[in-house]
Amino acid sequence: MPLCPCQTNLVARVKAPLAYSDCCQPYHKGVSKAETAERLMRTRYSAFVLINPEYIVKTTVPAQQALLDIKSIESWAHETPWAGLEIVQHTPKLGKRHAQVEFKAYYNEANKMDDLQAHHERSTFVKVKNKADNTERWYFLDPTVDMSVSQKQPCICGSGEKFKRCCGLYL
Ligand SMILES: [Zn+2]
Ligand SMILES: [Zn+2]
Repeated sequence: MPLCPCQTNLVARVKAPLAYSDCCQPYHKGVSKAETAERLMRTRYSAFVLINPEYIVKTTVPAQQALLDIKSIESWAHETPWAGLEIVQHTPKLGKRHAQVEFKAYYNEANKMDDLQAHHERSTFVKVKNKADNTERWYFLDPTVDMSVSQKQPCICGSGEKFKRCCGLYL
């Protein structure tokens, strides 16, 4: 049973790492839905390692999905020699519907332990309510996507608040 990519880390060994089937796979298959931003972050990292750009698109806030370049996500995933994920800090509640996850995604250009590099980032996630069935779901807010939305327009997440008071605070 292969270990889940989010459970292996060359820098800090994970105690009792989970198999892929017990960790991110049910989310990638759409059987489970991420209950927290940290869980969504982990499944997105694993999707990069396993080169599943569709999952990356699907877990980005719906208003941004059409603006993502799936081919470049795919080639970036291919070209990066991933070496593990470390969740530095999870801030589960940031205002009414946002959360942040600070993480380090390690990669290794030369495949040498002493040559590890890290993307050290703080990602913001938004909880969006599906009005049809009244369920909530976490999505990644991509700060690199160029959105032409004015500060006074209704927010892209569908919250009904003005953009500047909602996701605009983090984009
Ligand atoms: Zn995992
Ligand atoms: Zn919003």
